[in-house]
Amino acid sequence: MLITKPNYFDTFRCIAGSCPDSCCKEWDVQVDAVSAAYYRNLTGPLGDRLREVLYEEEGETYMSIQEDRRCPMWRDDGLCRIQAELGEPALCKTCREFPRLTHDYGNFIEYGLELSCPEAARILLSAPAAPYVTVEVAGNQEPEYDTDAMAVLKSTRKQMLQLLESDRPLREVLVLALLYGYQAQSQLDGAEELPFDPEAALAEAKILAKPGSTEDILALFASLEILTPQWEQRLQKPEGEAFPEACRPLLRYFVERYWLQAVSDYDLYCRVKFMVLSCLVIASLGGDFLQTAQLYSKEIENNTANVEALLDAAYCHPSLTDDKLLGLLLSI
Ligand code: SF4
Repeated sequence: MLITKPNYFDTFRCIAGSCPDSCCKEWDVQVDAVSAAYYRNLTGPLGDRLREVLYEEEGETYMSIQEDRRCPMWRDDGLCRIQAELGEPALCKTCREFPRLTHDYGNFIEYGLELSCPEAARILLSAPAAPYVTVEVAGNQEPEYDTDAMAVLKSTRKQMLQLLESDRPLREVLVLALLYGYQAQSQLDGAEELPFDPEAALAEAKILAKPGSTEDILALFASLEILTPQWEQRLQKPEGEAFPEACRPLLRYFVERYWLQAVSDYDLYCRVKFMVLSCLVIASLGGDFLQTAQLYSKEIENNTANVEALLDAAYCHPSLTDDKLLGLLLSI
């Protein structure tokens, strides 16, 4: 079994009281079955409180947030009551692992950090491409995927990451990401591997491009599930004018996180459109780039329904056609 992780993965530390946001508010935390059973059987005031705030929905257990939208276990001193009274091992899996991501493919695992944590976002968006560390551990398992498809996805992801690290302007990188994603999808569908010519792709993009509408795209986002009033306001008042350089590590984060996931349904192109669209929306909203990206992740990436809605919209929403996205990328 091979485990791959970026070199900052093991050194990530929650900044707790210095965090400008918190993962302890706005969400109903999903509680794993083992922790839920443990919490329900706890004696004393903490057990009583946990039994009050746990609820079941569609076979899963959640901890409900309070009226002030804070986790009911969040104490006034900023500490988690469960951690303070019972120690870190008593935390449920969600709280213990956040913001660490685990992509387990059976015979290999990739670890990463997620952008919705401000400290992880700082690391992800300020670091140059981080070296990856691969270690071999006992417990080799059978691959849980189509090995031919995974081989294509791994080699195309590598090429995508190389395109991204080129010294081309960001706008060109995003255009190339879209067009290379299209070619990589053909390869995943069984087409022969062809060399990718960035100059020819850029020339083609200029021919294909049609005027797009950021307003229509933001209206689509406004129709999704919204967690915070802050996000609703940001969607109404976009302030971005250009692609900041931090879009490069942002796109790298999306590519590293989502590219291989296409092995589950052979649909790479809708994910590539989602990645490029995410960069476009975050850049269009403007403001402090790191805060905007973190808020985007919290509102979109951490809500499965929103991600699925955007993956579907990538194919059928009139504002997300390839020609209009190319038009927007070339015009910002
Ligand atoms: S969001 Fe990140 S830095 Fe903030 S409290 Fe949670 S884990 Fe810590």
